[in-house]
Amino acid sequence: METVDYILAGQGVAGTLLGWEMRQAGLKIAVFDDGRADAASRLAAGIINPVSGRLFEVSWLYDTIYPLALATYRAMEAALGVSVFTERDIWNVWPTAQMRDAFAAHPTPYSVFPEGERYEGLLEAPFGAGIVKGANVDLGALLPAWAAHIGARRETFEMAALELKDHGVVYKDLQAKAVIFCEGAASPRNPWFGKLKFHPNKGEALIIRLPFETADIIKKGVTLVPLGDQTYWAGATFAWDYTDINPTNEARAQIEAQLQQLLLTPYEVIGHRAAVRPTGPDRRPMAGLHPHNPRLGIFNGMGSKGCSLAPWAARKFVGNLIHGEAIPPEIDINRFFRALR
Ligand SMILES: Cc1cc2nc3c(=O)[nH]c(=O)nc-3n(C[C@H](O)[C@H](O)[C@H](O)COP(=O)(O)OP(=O)(O)OC[C@H]3O[C@@H](n4cnc5c(N)ncnc54)[C@H](O)[C@@H]3O)c2cc1C
Repeated sequence: METVDYILAGQGVAGTLLGWEMRQAGLKIAVFDDGRADAASRLAAGIINPVSGRLFEVSWLYDTIYPLALATYRAMEAALGVSVFTERDIWNVWPTAQMRDAFAAHPTPYSVFPEGERYEGLLEAPFGAGIVKGANVDLGALLPAWAAHIGARRETFEMAALELKDHGVVYKDLQAKAVIFCEGAASPRNPWFGKLKFHPNKGEALIIRLPFETADIIKKGVTLVPLGDQTYWAGATFAWDYTDINPTNEARAQIEAQLQQLLLTPYEVIGHRAAVRPTGPDRRPMAGLHPHNPRLGIFNGMGSKGCSLAPWAARKFVGNLIHGEAIPPEIDINRFFRALR
């Protein structure tokens, strides 16, 4: 029997960042991930965008979250020997004069008007563009590098094999203080945390080839994220009513219609995928041990912002596990248990 501090069930961006923080704190972990097809982290473009909404408001806690995320991903790059974090200009092409004016009327430390045109003859941009200073995380590089680093087990964590003991858990050949579920969109089916209110939503994206190269993220309805070699991630759709996780013709048509409004060049579709975002009703992370059974915990609810939220939320959760520091109430799962009482 091997003894670890915590077992993590799931290694998307949530399980990866939680595992990183645990290891940084000197904890021993065992990680299970079965690589399921609808995992959001395997499709996400990893964009970190400091502003959101039509009024370009700075995102929730961004000034705290971003420096921590930047330092964390840089430290992971150094430890794992992979490049995963790229600061990028988000080149917002205005669909209307009103959008351009709203951008000008709501300045933020992250917004600038461009000095010159970068995409003449390539993009349809009669109202010009504005730059937001953002970034993106290459989850396609980060997740396998972390899995290899910690020897993650490529297996399904089977709830039926979990034994709850007086002072911890036993799972097959492992014993630990607790299991932390980082299962993404699978968590609504978790019998222990099934009552947490999830509003999962399906997102689809295309992979396309363009006849030009850029390091910018380009946005106008659709968002283009460079993948290298003139290929781009183009997405994404949001659907709350869906029957399965397969890519749909409707989503492809929607993204292609937006591409046609953006591009003056031809494009070639070379891929189309779908995944499910694990979103809660308040779009905040969900972190904590079960209030009635502290041998079980959850780290989830990253919604559409896993790359920016997970490093900070993981730091807070591990601070709670090790030092008993309070988890910020906005992300503490007790908000759901209190509401249910
Ligand atoms: C189309 C799309 C675009 C997105 N774009 C962005 C973006 O640009 N920026 C951003 O920050 N976020 C983006 N997101 C959101 C982001 O993907 C999520 O916030 C994040 O990936 C959620 O991570 P997670 O680890 O909680 O869940 P997941 O990524 O779903 O990971 C859960 C993992 O747990 C594993 N698992 C589940 N159950 C078990 C089990 N029983 N045993 C073993 N393993 C198990 C799964 O295989 C999976 O690997 C996007 C999402 C989508 C769908």
